[in-house]
Amino acid sequence: AQHAVQTADASLAAEARALLKRLGVPDSAFATSGRPALSPITGEVIVHVREHSPEEAKAAITRAHEAFKAWRKLPAPKRGEFVRLLGEELRAAKDDLGRLVTIEAGKVTSEGLGEVQEMIDICDFAVGLSRQLYGLTIATERADHRMMETWHPVGVCGVISAFNFPVAVWSWNAALALVCGDSVVWKPSEKMLLTALATHAIAMRAAKRFGGVPDGVLELILGGREIGEILVDDHRVPVLSATGSTAMGRQVGPKLAARFARAILELGGNNAAIVTPTADLDLALRGIAFAAMGTAGQRCTTLRRLFVHDSVYDKLVPRLKKVYSSVKIGDPRAEGTLVGPLIDKAAFDGMERALDEARAAGGTVHGGGRHTDGVAGGYYAKPALVEMTEQTGPVLRETFAPILYVMRYSDFDKVVEAHNAVGAGLSSSIFTLDMREAETFISVTGSDCGIANVNIGPSGAEIGGAFGGEKETGGGREAGSDSWKAYMRRATNTINYGKTLPLAQGVKFDV
Ligand code: NAD
Repeated sequence: AQHAVQTADASLAAEARALLKRLGVPDSAFATSGRPALSPITGEVIVHVREHSPEEAKAAITRAHEAFKAWRKLPAPKRGEFVRLLGEELRAAKDDLGRLVTIEAGKVTSEGLGEVQEMIDICDFAVGLSRQLYGLTIATERADHRMMETWHPVGVCGVISAFNFPVAVWSWNAALALVCGDSVVWKPSEKMLLTALATHAIAMRAAKRFGGVPDGVLELILGGREIGEILVDDHRVPVLSATGSTAMGRQVGPKLAARFARAILELGGNNAAIVTPTADLDLALRGIAFAAMGTAGQRCTTLRRLFVHDSVYDKLVPRLKKVYSSVKIGDPRAEGTLVGPLIDKAAFDGMERALDEARAAGGTVHGGGRHTDGVAGGYYAKPALVEMTEQTGPVLRETFAPILYVMRYSDFDKVVEAHNAVGAGLSSSIFTLDMREAETFISVTGSDCGIANVNIGPSGAEIGGAFGGEKETGGGREAGSDSWKAYMRRATNTINYGKTLPLAQGVKFDV
């Protein structure tokens, strides 16, 4: 009775509500006075969600802070067992949660499921990690001494996430933070309340099966920016991972710095690829088309700038235009769709504005505009390929929509310079069979991004590597490699097992 539904596609809203129920979201999560949760597929309201007050958000941080004190004492492999159960629950819920991602975020079916698979993968990674939180043993200059480092849990880890990876980003942080001994308070995007509620319900099932998870180890706080700010400002949150726009990072970063909290900032990207004379053009075509149009251009790693060598421009770009004009746009639930809806009207308007600016800057726009065939409501955009004579105007910034700016180049050193001449530094690619170019691109003088690929598009990272970018992307790293260190504090220990007290650096001191 609490579900207030204004529906254009009764089956969509009904399906979403059935999924929520099956995934274990309690009815108490909904209230007619709450924030409307929409599906971008049709733009309709599925249900209204009860958000949290500032007092409730602070109480959640208090619970997480108390839970941390107990959780940190559990041996790490035991904490890993909880994450193993979380992975099992996610496996069992994969189809339902993936479908809910499709309905709430508008991702095509395989990407909705893929997002949940990423959550499962990071759980597996974290379980292994729970037995590998190693410190070093270090040679000391003093006789009968031993020096080593120990890694300890750090406290409450705040997670603020963006709309476009509504659940995976939480898991990248939470799975690692949990095995590291931290508790986690999650503030998801206010546009993605349903998938967040479902994920939390899944995690609570894993906690119940585990038995000994202190209440408050995983908290969910729902609300807009003002609720996120509570997490940013609370001194009991020593590490905060914030994913979203560079504009958000500019507000959050200085506040965290002012209270000396650790920031894991995962911000915007303006990712590029270079196609050189020796490139395998069939492979490049596929890589470029998927990276630029997939997820309707709403990935932080979406390909936005393409530099094509003069000698292959007229071979590659006409083929690319053909792919652009034939790509299947529409309902992300339909078989064969590559480009689903934009998240909302503001995203569509932003795309239109960027295309106008590109035209004014001398660009030739192919595609673009609203796609209305066979869709009921929602903001569907035709992907745009824009030929630019130089890297200027909107090319220099991220527009979170399917726009690919294409430019010619003739000199390799100059194109690498142009590649790096934007604010963001997330992901990058080179398509080449020339070993010198490939190695140079990923070398010290090549791409300045956190991710630099060869013969693969810039999007679609695996969880085994550290994920994140430089410059205005914020510098944070998440997921694989040694990203776990951001969720722990390091203590250097020196132990004297001798009978004298030699001082470091040969300092003399007698009493
Ligand atoms: P957004 O910046 O509008 O919002 C992101 C989150 O930050 C939301 O939960 C929002 O409520 C919160 N927020 C905003 N201002 C805040 C403030 N001052 N204090 C505390 N919280 C605040 O981003 P969006 O539109 O949801 O997502 C798209 C953006 O995210 C793109 O720029 C994209 O590139 C970026 N992104 C980056 C990565 C990455 O890993 N680098 C991954 C996904 C998305």
